[in-house]
Amino acid sequence: MKSLLIKGGRVIDPSRNLDDTADILISNGSVEAVGKNLKNSSEAEVINADGLVVTPGLIDMHVHLRDPGQEYKEDLFSGSRAAAAGGFTAVAAMANTDPVGDDPALINYIQDRSRHAAARVYPVGALTKGLEGKEMAELGRMKKAGAVAFSDDGKPVVNSMLMRNALHYATGIDALIIVHEEDPFLAAGGMMHEGSVSSILGLRGIPAAAEEAMLARDLIIIKITGGRLHIAHVSTAGSVELVRRAKSEGLQVTAEVTPHHLLLTDRAIKNSGYSTNTKVNPPLRSEHDRQALWEGLLDGTIDAIASDHAPHHPDDKDVEYDFAPCGIAGLETTLSLMLDEYSSGRIKRLALPLLIEKMSTAPAGILGIPGGTLQPGSPADLTIIDLNRTMTVNPSDWYSKSRNTPFAGRRLTGVPICTIVGGRIVMKEGVVTENGQ
Ligand SMILES: [Zn+2]
Repeated sequence: MKSLLIKGGRVIDPSRNLDDTADILISNGSVEAVGKNLKNSSEAEVINADGLVVTPGLIDMHVHLRDPGQEYKEDLFSGSRAAAAGGFTAVAAMANTDPVGDDPALINYIQDRSRHAAARVYPVGALTKGLEGKEMAELGRMKKAGAVAFSDDGKPVVNSMLMRNALHYATGIDALIIVHEEDPFLAAGGMMHEGSVSSILGLRGIPAAAEEAMLARDLIIIKITGGRLHIAHVSTAGSVELVRRAKSEGLQVTAEVTPHHLLLTDRAIKNSGYSTNTKVNPPLRSEHDRQALWEGLLDGTIDAIASDHAPHHPDDKDVEYDFAPCGIAGLETTLSLMLDEYSSGRIKRLALPLLIEKMSTAPAGILGIPGGTLQPGSPADLTIIDLNRTMTVNPSDWYSKSRNTPFAGRRLTGVPICTIVGGRIVMKEGVVTENGQ
């Protein structure tokens, strides 16, 4: 493998509080050195990063790659190409596939099949067998096989005793549990956030309480079990407050937020003329909630930004609002959406190192996977960003098989221009150069 020398970029490494102009030497798939005026002794290929930002590879800790079972929506290869195109070097793939990822064989399938994919794919195992919420899956065996966390994402774990047992068991094997917090009775039949907009539109709402009630339950259970709990796609002001309080009490709780919950509200449903690309679970909330999510992200209550990449085929989404499946495909927009918020100055306290921490260092730490750092000796997973370049969101150009985004047509400033995985350039100038097939 050829060595790489990335010269003169603004290197941001939140794991070491580094934000300075430096060179990075990569050899044999690892970061060899970070420093000023590094010598090109090994005839490395030189990448001129003058005027560019160089960061640890971005990690999306919440994606749905639909493989196995729904490869017409996405598969491990198209999903990893979409990740690489979006500046991500690694993703964590949820278990709501067909068959469900509730068995070591499925964990092995994902690892084997994605071995040569453009980005690293880390499998998340199901928490309960068949995602049915009745019987705990074999967490220990799946963890040995390589599952980085356990989740029934897409579905809440309704049975409180099962949740208690799962958290208790997970504590014993130091496993992370990721929860999709939703009380299905409170949410039943809901299409969008319950509030003034749902009243005007005459669509049945999902109250904030559906998320908060379940979250409060789990935060109470974890007090008796211990363990590590990660809250997927926090969407309400009340949830942010609950997580904030849990952290102040010393509970091992982390949380993520999606770009769509940070950038859109329930008004997007009305303004888009009921576009089903605005239908997502949890739903787009109120402006009050949106502001609280930003506050939570900036004050450290929310640890990570994740896309919840949920690809759907156009045929699935091209139906009435009531019948459309929930989900937004986000791998190829997440970074630019966030960079655009940064460069526009709309969010006053949003600093670039903080953004990189939420998209790289924090998810690596939560999942306990390599990456999130440019410390010499660590895997050479890097993202190079041009803060000044603009792009227009055009889903027909995507590497993802899906097109479902409410952001189509948005002009964004800030683009990933190179993705490096294990010392190999997998994306350059928007073109994914390695697809593993
Ligand atoms: Zn979910």
